[in-house]
Amino acid sequence: STPGQLIDGKAVSAQVLAEVTADVAALKAQGVEPALAVVLVGDDPASHVYVRNKVLRAGEVGIRSLEYRLPAEASAAEVLALVAELNADAGVHGILVQLPLPKHIDETSVLQAIDPAKDVDGFHSENVGGLSQGRPVLTPCTPAGCMRLLRDTLGDLSGKHAVVIGRSNIVGKPMAALLLAADCTVTVLHSRSKNPQALCRKADIVVAAVGRPRMINAEWIKPGAVVIDVGINRIEEDGKNRLVGDVDFASVQPLTAAITPVPGGVGPMTIALLMQNTVTAACQQHINSAPA
Ligand code: NDP
Repeated sequence: STPGQLIDGKAVSAQVLAEVTADVAALKAQGVEPALAVVLVGDDPASHVYVRNKVLRAGEVGIRSLEYRLPAEASAAEVLALVAELNADAGVHGILVQLPLPKHIDETSVLQAIDPAKDVDGFHSENVGGLSQGRPVLTPCTPAGCMRLLRDTLGDLSGKHAVVIGRSNIVGKPMAALLLAADCTVTVLHSRSKNPQALCRKADIVVAAVGRPRMINAEWIKPGAVVIDVGINRIEEDGKNRLVGDVDFASVQPLTAAITPVPGGVGPMTIALLMQNTVTAACQQHINSAPA
C-alpha cells in the first residue's frame, strides 16, 4: 500500500450492507423476515438521531424495524417489561436499547435483561464472556467494524502489535478482545498508563478510542503503522463546528501505511455491523427453532 492510504469506511460499509441485503433476501426466501426492535427512552437529541439512522438503514437492507419510544419518566420496571415482551416475541430477532438511559434507570440491569441471542449490541455479559473465550457470539458493532476495516486493509493480522487507546466496555475492551482473537499482540492504554506515547510508538496497528480531539499526534506513531480513529469529537474552530477524531490526522497521515478519516472512517461501519448482527441473530434463531 502507498503511504497514508485512506481507509474508506463509506465504501466498506456499503459493501457490508450489500452482503447483508443478500443475506436478508435469502432468509426471506426461507420464510424468515429479520426484525430489529429499537428501544429509545427519553429525549436525548443525539440518541434520536442515532435511532432514526438505524431505522432508516434497516429499511434499506430489508430488515423490518420496530421502534419503541418511552418517556424520560418511564420506570425501570416499564423498560424491563418491554424487553421481556420483545424477548418472548419470536418475530423479533434483534433488540437494541439505545444508550444512555435516563439516570434513574440502571443500564446494566436493562442490558442483562435482553436475551443474549437477540443482543445485537453485544453488551450482555454472556456475549462479553463468549468474546473473551473466543466463542462465536454477537460482538459490539464499533469494534467489529474496526476489525473489518483492518482485515480489508492488512489481511492476516497474526503477530501484529496492536495498541488500543481507551478501555471502555463499548469500544476499547471488546476491540482488544477481537484483536487478541485475531492473534495480535495487544496493549491497552488508558488514562493511568505511564509513557503511553512511547508504548504507542511501537504499534503496527493503533486503534484510538479516547474521546479527546486530536490527542494522538505524529509523536505517537511508528512509520508504516495502520491507524484506526474511532473518536468522534465536536469542536469549534475558526468559528465553525467541526467533527474531528482522536487522531491529529494532518500530522499523522503522512507517517502511516493507512488511516481512517473522520468522518467517513469508522462512523459508517457501526450501523452496517448492527445490520449484520441482526441478520446473524435471525439466522441463528431460525436454525435453533427448526424442527430436528
Ligand atoms: P469513554 O469515555 O467511555 O472511554 C474513553 C477511554 O479513553 C477511557 O478508557 C479512558 O481511560 C481513556 N482515556 C481518557 N483520557 C486518556 C488519556 N489522556 N490517555 C489515554 N487514555 C485516555 O469513550 P468511548 O470508548 O465510549 O468512546 C471513545 C471515542 O469514540 C469517543 O470520541 C466517542 O465519541 C467515539 N465513539 C465512536 C463510535 C463510532 O461509531 N465511530 C462509537 C462509540 C464511540 P480510563 O478508563 O482510565 O478513564
